[in-house]
Amino acid sequence: MLICKYCFRIFDPLHVWHFLQRPLLCRICYQQIEWHHRIERWQGIQIESLFDYGPVFQKMIYQFKSNLDVELGSVFLNQHNTYLKLKYFQYTFVLAPSHDDDLIKRGFHPLVEIFKAVGLPLLILFEKNRPYRQSEQQGRDRQGIQQVTILKKSISIPQRICLVDDVMTTGETLKAMIGLLKPISFKHVKILVLARKKPEKIEITRHAKNDKIRNWKQDIWHG
Ligand SMILES: [Zn+2]
Repeated sequence: MLICKYCFRIFDPLHVWHFLQRPLLCRICYQQIEWHHRIERWQGIQIESLFDYGPVFQKMIYQFKSNLDVELGSVFLNQHNTYLKLKYFQYTFVLAPSHDDDLIKRGFHPLVEIFKAVGLPLLILFEKNRPYRQSEQQGRDRQGIQQVTILKKSISIPQRICLVDDVMTTGETLKAMIGLLKPISFKHVKILVLARKKPEKIEITRHAKNDKIRNWKQDIWHG
């Protein structure tokens, strides 16, 4: 008998393999999550994502980060840990930047809590030089993340790194990280995010020119 970490329902494991990897969510919560698995190229880098940034994910991540429900940190990648460990073998997970004040206030580092169960090295290479919440910014203000993100000094960068973050909406945080890495020589870089915003539906009339369609296809995941 298990207890769901999100809704606290008591449930029984459904499959025999659940005895090997304990599920942390009940079937109802599990089925509500907007799963997707996408591997794309973005900014010339491979980016992998696992969920839609939909209402259920948004509620869960809010419960985790804003309501300080640290127990939920292990829920997001529970079904993916083995896959990610094999796929990113020899890579170091480089965490998206945060500000010390936020971490002290919260009492835990959200990305450490999410990604530590994969079992790969975690590196804090970036930080914010002032408190700045990307989720509280609108439109062009979101580009302000470029000004507040800095590279920590005196830390050597491993040859294979995977930039990780919980949510990608406009991608400005990841662009800031990539921009700071560019002058530095590194051989392999990938990106892994939990959730990515779904592309908005775009109406294309039958009179649309072919190049417009081509651009839409290229850009749809670049927002
Ligand atoms: Zn549940």
